Amino acid sequence: MKTSRKATLFLLIALICASSQVVSHAAKVEPEIASALDVCSSLDQFTRWISDLSGETEALIHGKPHYILTRYALADDARTSEQYLREQFYAMGLEVETQMVFPEFSRNLIARLPGITRPEDVVIICAHYDSTSEDPLTRAPGADDNASGTAGVLTAASILRNFRFECSVEFCLFTAEEFGLYGSEAYAAECLAAGKNVVAVLNMDMIIHSTNDVQSLLPLDVDIVTNSASETLAASIKSSIERYTPLDAEVTVDAVRGSDHASFWDIGSPAVAVAENLPSEIWSGSTSVYHTTDDLITQPNVDLPFGLSVARGIAAATMIQAHWERPRSLPFGVASSAVVDGINRSDGGEHRAFMSVGEESGTDGAFAECRAENLVLQGAVGPGPAVSTRPSVIPPLLRRSFPAPPLFRKEKRSLWS
Ligand SMILES: [Zn+2]
Repeated sequence: MKTSRKATLFLLIALICASSQVVSHAAKVEPEIASALDVCSSLDQFTRWISDLSGETEALIHGKPHYILTRYALADDARTSEQYLREQFYAMGLEVETQMVFPEFSRNLIARLPGITRPEDVVIICAHYDSTSEDPLTRAPGADDNASGTAGVLTAASILRNFRFECSVEFCLFTAEEFGLYGSEAYAAECLAAGKNVVAVLNMDMIIHSTNDVQSLLPLDVDIVTNSASETLAASIKSSIERYTPLDAEVTVDAVRGSDHASFWDIGSPAVAVAENLPSEIWSGSTSVYHTTDDLITQPNVDLPFGLSVARGIAAATMIQAHWERPRSLPFGVASSAVVDGINRSDGGEHRAFMSVGEESGTDGAFAECRAENLVLQGAVGPGPAVSTRPSVIPPLLRRSFPAPPLFRKEKRSLWS
């Protein structure tokens, strides 16, 4: 009896030790993920996307400057913002699919990274890009609701495009959420009809007001809203956010249909919303400019680093959910020169240029900028003058510098085989 108790105790201690090892292994910070979050996204770019989408600055669309005054799904400018967003994905080398929801609405946009071994399993990062206000056809800046989440999706895309995944990753920007989740409903129905296995949906909706403006005791962390069927996903996202960003995350099981994640609950997929506050808090006034013409990036309580951290946390969570395999680019440390394909910003013509890739130059990335003969070209970098690894479709408009992907050390060469 005694011996048996001892054995049981020993077994129990061994089990506790083993499980704590499992926990600490699962909770470790992967240096490639941490590096990618830091190097492939920037506060400047995140800010610029929100600023352009909310009409604070002139957006460049089809090469022409234009103030986007509203993204209300029925407004002409919503179509303009749709084109702007398409061009942002193109500039990252991603192809974009368009889905019509109703002919009168601006359309859904879907950019994809196909999975390597399990392409039928899909992780979706999404946000609605439409907006509303008390005068929606004229002015609905929606900087927080939801240019912020839209910029979050673009930020995640700018990070994740540098990696390969076992599962497919989709970046979805939905229309007509403000009319009642129409865009996401249409896309969830399409996923169901196509027999896709949507394994996780990470929806960002309102992520730049870190503090509330009603001076109540609302928490200053990021909120993850989940239904009970998505609790495992929510816990994993919380863990990623807390490991890879300075933020705390709080999970609340609250099956309110406040945003696009609910459309995926309806098709039986795990889905969560990530937001500055709970829907109940937002609806009761925690963000007072919500759905008004004052939802501007210049509001004093806008906290852009907070929003960028949320987006980075979502990117890290997706890398884990989609089972990241290895960096997508070629061994840049090996290449001494590279070819850059791109569009001349000034005349829109297609050009090819050669550039040298020095290990110390900081340009050894899948996407680099080349300045030669007064041309400013951006494009993917190949391993030498004769080969280009750039995607087959040349982005129609490239105008911004995207930060170079993480600088992988030489020892990591074996990853590229
Ligand atoms: Zn919203």
